[in-house]
Amino acid sequence: MLPALAVYASHSAIQVVEGAFREGVGVVLFGPSWRLRLYSRFPSLRFHVVECMGGGCLERLGDECVIVPNGSLVEYVGWEALERSRVPLFGLRGLMRWESSWGSKMRLLREAGLNTPRVYENPEEVDTMVIVKLPGAKGGRGYFTSDNPEEIRRRLEGYVEAGLLKSISDAAIQEYVVGVTMYAHYFYSPLLKRLELTGFDVRYESNVDALARAPKRLREVIGQSFTVVGNFPVYPREALLESFIQAGESFVEATRRVIPPGVIGPFCLECIVTEELELVFFEFSGRIVAGTNVYLLGSPYLALYWGEPMTVGRRIAKEIRMASDENRLGDVTT
Ligand code: AMP
Repeated sequence: MLPALAVYASHSAIQVVEGAFREGVGVVLFGPSWRLRLYSRFPSLRFHVVECMGGGCLERLGDECVIVPNGSLVEYVGWEALERSRVPLFGLRGLMRWESSWGSKMRLLREAGLNTPRVYENPEEVDTMVIVKLPGAKGGRGYFTSDNPEEIRRRLEGYVEAGLLKSISDAAIQEYVVGVTMYAHYFYSPLLKRLELTGFDVRYESNVDALARAPKRLREVIGQSFTVVGNFPVYPREALLESFIQAGESFVEATRRVIPPGVIGPFCLECIVTEELELVFFEFSGRIVAGTNVYLLGSPYLALYWGEPMTVGRRIAKEIRMASDENRLGDVTT
């Protein structure tokens, strides 16, 4: 039986609902009523609704569903609840635990042989400009830059007191790499045994993207912050595409070795490209990223594999439809 896609109502849900409709796959949108309201405003989006909150949501989904995880699901329902849930998940369930801690996240990138920024174990080690990050899919919220160990410890202790952080060691302290960011989106198909490049985006972050336009005196006193507000599409020079594809292939191989059966469906490798055109990978997401929304009318790269415009949302529905038709749902869910 063709399952319905169960999607948390936020993040990239419009894209998945729209894509599933084009592939003739049903969608159950779930979440609190205030999040669900948005989707009923668009007449051509078709879906069923389950109104629910937090971890309790997963118990409301039937066996006829396949969860399509997104960043909001991981942040608001939590990877622990997802790990416990018996509802099939399109993707590699075990990857979410790896993603939940900065230590294991960076270990997996290194396991893939990718270039990563220097990581500092504690504030006192810091001897250069660093970016300090909170765990979880918070869209850059709370990140800051500093080259001062005392300031870093003081701010992190403040986060612990405010309950934003369990312990200082849960934050990531990474060398600040100068270059432009590029978020590379991929889709690994276990059915076709093929990695597809699906696109690239750049985040539009407040206030760091506004500082260049701020009056000089303000720039001197305001610290950088990295709250994601939106995304832009970006097209790397063609000569870089092969390097990006090889990085994606190495990541697929690493997840196969370390977390069998390996990554399934969409994922993202987040990197900075330096002026020497070196790729430095500072993070990954083992699921659809909101940056794929920039291709709501179809990714030009996916069209090169499929001969027609295709969003990542539609690509997910297509893989599930193909798996269902071939009786291979077990190969694309965990
Ligand atoms: P993230 O939430 O990890 O994707 O990072 C949010 C933003 O922080 C990125 O878009 C970059 O602007 C910036 N960033 C993250 N890591 C680094 C790094 N190691 N060096 C410089 N900028 C970074």
